Amino acid sequence: MVANFNFRNGTLYCEDVKVEEIVKSVGSPAYIYSKKAILDGYKEIRDAFADAFPLVCFSVKSNSNLSILRLLAVEGSGFDVVSGGELYRALQAGAHPKKIIFAGVGKSSEEIEYALDCNILMFNVESLAELKVINALAYDKKTKATVALRLNPDVDPKTHAKTTTGKRENKFGIDLGVAERIVKEAKRYDTLQICGLHVHLGSPIMSPEPYVKALEKIKDFLPLCRENSLPIEYVNIGGGYCISYTGQPVCKPTDYAREILPLVRDLNLKLILEPGRFIVGNSGILVTKVVYKKETSFGKRFIICDAAMNDLIRPTLYDAFHRIWPVSPRVPMPEVLTSATPNPPEPDLIKVDIVGPVCESSDFFAKDRFIPEIKAGELLSIFSAGAYGFTMSSNYNSRPRPCEVLVDGKTFLLIRRRETCEDLISKEIG
Ligand SMILES: *Cc1c(COP(=O)(O)O)cnc(C)c1O
Repeated sequence: MVANFNFRNGTLYCEDVKVEEIVKSVGSPAYIYSKKAILDGYKEIRDAFADAFPLVCFSVKSNSNLSILRLLAVEGSGFDVVSGGELYRALQAGAHPKKIIFAGVGKSSEEIEYALDCNILMFNVESLAELKVINALAYDKKTKATVALRLNPDVDPKTHAKTTTGKRENKFGIDLGVAERIVKEAKRYDTLQICGLHVHLGSPIMSPEPYVKALEKIKDFLPLCRENSLPIEYVNIGGGYCISYTGQPVCKPTDYAREILPLVRDLNLKLILEPGRFIVGNSGILVTKVVYKKETSFGKRFIICDAAMNDLIRPTLYDAFHRIWPVSPRVPMPEVLTSATPNPPEPDLIKVDIVGPVCESSDFFAKDRFIPEIKAGELLSIFSAGAYGFTMSSNYNSRPRPCEVLVDGKTFLLIRRRETCEDLISKEIG
């Protein structure tokens, strides 16, 4: 149904393990990931771009569990990090420093020094001010820093406003005017080696066109770099490759590659990709137990579950759509579920708001959603929760965060234990 999550004999499995069995062992709510889906995702995108021998740098912020990073590191993946903490995680997971790249608009001096000491592949520099700081810190350390300029190409990725990063009004990247000045004055930054050009436009991007537009701008920008003798070796087209949240077909890595590869070939540069969502998004689910059902006198029904916005904030933050269905449903789950109301409504389904216990009206997973009848104590699966799920979780309302489980064939492994109430107060003093 969704990569390696399938119903067999009326109940949901992750690979060859019953989801109910996992929950019986680790409790609820729980994030459950399929090892095979993660590795298949990595290989699918790597292979689609194989003609360009890409360095695939997994975006750590999409899912930063050490066990998952380790899986990918063993497979040869590089890592895209956006903080000192993510850099630390990647190294702990066994990442090769020369396969780590560091983006982010606000890298602190401490983070830059840490990354210089670790000898990472490159920084993706997002402003002139940052460029100067990296130059000075590298000088102090008597070393050279390799950097790519993250360009803001002013391309609309046609995605949610809160996940758009490559338009001129966004805080990300260096606009082409400033970038031109940097290139012309590059000799001033003599402890820097400007070795690449980078763009990351937003996420999810549903078609190749925004990448193509950005690459065309890079192509126009490259001659200036050559004239000024910059040793440009890499072009990095960022992340944003989409997944299907509904079951409907979407653009695949080979579809992006078909349009993107000819342009990369023209540039004659090494290609870097930074996928996050594509690799882990559909490789994970969040399982939650129904605590109560509630019906108002106006006929509105709520399913109140034990997971909440603090565990998975995408619906609250981005109005994101996630398929949700009982783990052992009375009605089989359709191949495709969308936010549109089925018309005519299916007789066996009930219309509900699926919400959590947090004290916010924005605490919901779905509104006016049709699902099969379900009882308190039964489980719901929230699909496509492997990316930006656990990593965006918090302890709001002093809720201990859920555990994470990795399934491998017939076995499963707890890869992060459930937090306890002691964990909640463990760092407080006095
Ligand atoms: C978040 C991010 C990515 C990953 O985006 P996905 O949509 O998960 O592929 C890649 N590069 C940078 C710089 C990012 O900030």
